[in-house]
Amino acid sequence: MFRQRIGPHVALMAVVKANAYGHGAEEVAKRALSSGADLLGVAVAEEGRDLRRVGISCPILILGASNREQIAMALDHELDITLCDNNAWHQVVELSTTMKVKARIHLKVDTGMGRLGVSPDRVVETWVPKLCHPMIEWQGLMSHFAESDAEDVDYTKEQLRRFLDVIEELRCHQATPPMIHVANSAAAMRFPGSHFNMVRIGIGLYGAETYDVKYPLKAAMTMESRITFIKEVGPDIPIGYGRTFVTSENTVIATVAVGYADGYRRALSNRSHVLIGGTRCPVVGRVSMDQITVAVPKTLSLQVGDVVTLMGESETGAAITVHEMASWADTISYEILTGITSRVPRVYSESSG
Ligand SMILES: *Cc1c(COP(=O)(O)O)cnc(C)c1O
Repeated sequence: MFRQRIGPHVALMAVVKANAYGHGAEEVAKRALSSGADLLGVAVAEEGRDLRRVGISCPILILGASNREQIAMALDHELDITLCDNNAWHQVVELSTTMKVKARIHLKVDTGMGRLGVSPDRVVETWVPKLCHPMIEWQGLMSHFAESDAEDVDYTKEQLRRFLDVIEELRCHQATPPMIHVANSAAAMRFPGSHFNMVRIGIGLYGAETYDVKYPLKAAMTMESRITFIKEVGPDIPIGYGRTFVTSENTVIATVAVGYADGYRRALSNRSHVLIGGTRCPVVGRVSMDQITVAVPKTLSLQVGDVVTLMGESETGAAITVHEMASWADTISYEILTGITSRVPRVYSESSG
């Protein structure tokens, strides 16, 4: 999908940080590369090292700032480093000299995210000379948007303008690095002028957010569990910790094996729904560590062991989107996906590519 959107000449970085947004870094990295991604993005050197250890050899960029130990790890495993300050530059020069390996560097410019990066008006004067160091291969210039997914596009356009100014100045000095990149998923979909020669796709890879009706995304993940217990209770019966839900009539309550220790957040208590046989059923009472309780329509015939869809599409085609889960829990899709803990087994289907 993104390949269609960006065309054949723009490189696609699959961002697989945070265990590929909870989906499993190794599996996602391999599938992304075999379906057209050119390189990978991780947050920290350790994530890159782990991908090298399972035999992944494509370029991997560490998107965050690295400390000394992480710079050494990056050099050791041929990971590309995002450079954000002078202190790190000194460490890169020193370590690459002693380790006798050239450092591959992407310089990060802060165009208005206010988090990492060097000042845009310092790039030519201060940074170009530093990046000419013989132990440095200057690979790229990058920046990051603060609100490329926001309805109001003005600030993104302003950031893009600042980034373009830096690029123009570099061109005048004939000092542009080979790769120029700024777009995340939302920007890649919404601002074709931000593609340059690479886009960095995270959330969109997992189908969790759609910013363009012409290019609908399919959610990569379905989260399921099973019914462990069923009972029918009368009216005025409290359900779960803190008795936050009390039945008002005869009610069938199914207990399901999932809880906040799996990443099914406690904030979903008395707010979320699950799918049982394609029917939406409300979660009633508090989400506990390992279990939830669901009110089920009496007409539904149920058995212990039945599958419950917590997120994603059920067999009937009914779905609970990660976006819905996020809004029930007052958070964003990113936090829901990355919050699914290691206790939840990841099972990969052949078809999802
Ligand atoms: C996480 C991250 C991305 C990917 O962002 P999405 O919104 O998930 O596409 C891109 N660039 C940087 C620097 C990141 O940290």
